[in-house]
Amino acid sequence: MKKIAILGSTGSIGTQALDICARHPEEYRVAALTAKSSRKKLFDQVRRFRPEMAGLVDGIREEEIPEDLRFCHWMSGAEALHAAAAEVEADQVLVSIVGIAGLRSVLDALGAGRQVLLANKEALVTGGHLVMDLARRMGKPLLPVDSEHSAIFQCLQAAGPNRAEKILLTASGGPFRTWKKEDIHRATRAQALKHPNWDMGAKITVDSASMFNKGLEIMEARWLFDMPENRIQVVVHPESIVHSAIVFADGAVLAQLGTPDMRVPIGYAMSYPARMTTGVAEPDLFTLGKLTFEAPDEEKFPSLRLAWEALRAGGAACTVLNGANEEAVARFLREEIAFGEIYTLVARAMDRLSGLGADSYEDILEADRRARAVVNER
Ligand code: NAD
Ligand code: MG
Repeated sequence: MKKIAILGSTGSIGTQALDICARHPEEYRVAALTAKSSRKKLFDQVRRFRPEMAGLVDGIREEEIPEDLRFCHWMSGAEALHAAAAEVEADQVLVSIVGIAGLRSVLDALGAGRQVLLANKEALVTGGHLVMDLARRMGKPLLPVDSEHSAIFQCLQAAGPNRAEKILLTASGGPFRTWKKEDIHRATRAQALKHPNWDMGAKITVDSASMFNKGLEIMEARWLFDMPENRIQVVVHPESIVHSAIVFADGAVLAQLGTPDMRVPIGYAMSYPARMTTGVAEPDLFTLGKLTFEAPDEEKFPSLRLAWEALRAGGAACTVLNGANEEAVARFLREEIAFGEIYTLVARAMDRLSGLGADSYEDILEADRRARAVVNER
């Protein structure tokens, strides 16, 4: 029996992880669940999975806890996240919070010696060196949940002692892949939230449309697999069947394929090194017929160019890109700015804030704060 704590349990990744727990009641016991504000959903989850601890980051008062849920220890605010990550007894901590907010929890969980299942890519984008250092010192390598990184990780399991010379990071290209640049600039909230292949939270769905998601994933791969950025290649693959691949010195390419359903990478992180049923069927290759690949268009999607620039610049440049993007996406979702402005605001923040350091956790938070301020200034 494995005990799992799920941070961000009411989100897209969190609910799919609970779906897997429900399929394997003999193997997984839910120890803790946290959400930001969706209390109704969290109440339902606590009723069903009976964790010993639950927390709402936005807070909950004693009298608001339903009578039948008082068996559970309820907490509020940042303390709730800390408890779920590091205090509640658990074998695994799934960090499926969205944004840089996940960095603290990843560090807390690793510091407490927990096995971290990492969905929150922003933790590596902003604090990759701190996270990887701590994971190494604690002897607890991260298990990736992001589908591309899970694919690379799975290929590396099959590689044995051979190293990967290069990573082929696939991308669906998002809903605007075939659009003209001017139309992308004017895209609406509803259009950006309509991903062709994946059903995900709002922030990452917008990131997929802008292709900032792929930029963040290059950074994530750089840290997870200690791969220099010039050996990571983005390959647009609209069918989202090949989840990524690695290239060996002899020219052989090893890829992982599957139906685009996050329960596969979530389940693999949960059961690693074993495999278990997830409720997902393999793709029907005859129905698919063919798989296609194309080069990314960096002219239409400046996010990729900005991501390469940030990676080369080092220091806090990736944190600045991430913070500006988080803030710009939030503004776009509130319909305050045009879709195309996400790119200009991120570029402006990177321009203004070049040369910031990211030696400590505090440096990272400061760079994040300043990037957001650039996006919000009038
Ligand atoms: P989501 O918006 O659906 O869910 C986010 C969860 O985190 C919710 O439970 C929410 O209550 C909680 N949360 C939000 N802000 C928080 C904060 N400031 N502090 C604490 N908790 C907070 O997001 P998602 O799509 O499930 O994505 C979660 C993470 O996983 C993201 O980093 C995303 O990039 C990554 N990811 C998601 C997918 C996917 O298919 N959804 C795929 C790959 C990677
Ligand atoms: Mg991904």
